[in-house]
Amino acid sequence: MTRIGVHSFVWAAGSSQDVLQCMIESTVSAGYDLIEFSYLNPTEVNVDWLAKALADAKLGVAISMGLPPEGDVSSEDPAVVSAGESLLRGAVALTRDLGGTVLGGILSSAHAKYDTFPTRLNWDTAVEAISRVARMAEASKIVLNLEIVNRFESNLLNTLAQGASFINDTGARNVMLHADTFHMNIEEPGIAQAIRQFGKHIGYMHIGESHRGALGTGNIDFGSVFDALVEVEYQGDITFESFSRKIVDTELSLKTGIWRDLWSDNLVLARQARSFIDLCLNQSRERLLLASA
Ligand code: MN
Repeated sequence: MTRIGVHSFVWAAGSSQDVLQCMIESTVSAGYDLIEFSYLNPTEVNVDWLAKALADAKLGVAISMGLPPEGDVSSEDPAVVSAGESLLRGAVALTRDLGGTVLGGILSSAHAKYDTFPTRLNWDTAVEAISRVARMAEASKIVLNLEIVNRFESNLLNTLAQGASFINDTGARNVMLHADTFHMNIEEPGIAQAIRQFGKHIGYMHIGESHRGALGTGNIDFGSVFDALVEVEYQGDITFESFSRKIVDTELSLKTGIWRDLWSDNLVLARQARSFIDLCLNQSRERLLLASA
């Protein structure tokens, strides 16, 4: 059963106990089933407390991250690969300790605008690293969902087709695609077409507008996106992701170019996104029923 989630940076940046408690309360108040924590540093968070707070609020959790250049598992430098692998293992442990099964984000390369072409060696090195981490993650039933991002944020996997081929090379059952409509809008021949073709590999879904603001105020045809998700019987989580200059996590805001305010009232934004996703899902389900009647 699909859970509807919200990205923590809709609420706030930071990871103090007060901030995390507020994020949980806002997520519940806006009607979501799940919260995705991004770039949560396990050494700065009381993990046991957070696991209990999530359970008390009856919220699901997903963890996401983007590897830093000094932890790029596609690097030709074995020390860099090894640093990246230990970050991934830490993220797997954090996901497990919070009671989750979903790890997403840019796991197969650094989250960066590269100034080099990807090579066969980069690809093979990343495949091997992800395979090793996947074997460790399997014991805790955790799935590594590789986020497919646009050309300005990675040079290795920019389309679902490339991601599916990468997954095939790992041979792992617990490696899937983390698809994101914001990135797909830039790189795919068609968003709905890519979902139909590679839907069986998608384990986690980000719903984001073309400008990363409020859903329905940009260029993405969400009707066709949800039609495709319903058609392929997508069962994974669907998480709303949006950024504004109002909330600044320095690292992510600079990497993703969040230079302006796309919104200022995050509770209004999140409630609108929740009802927008519900409306799209219901309409697509009804359309499919009518079409197959
Ligand atoms: Mn995303």
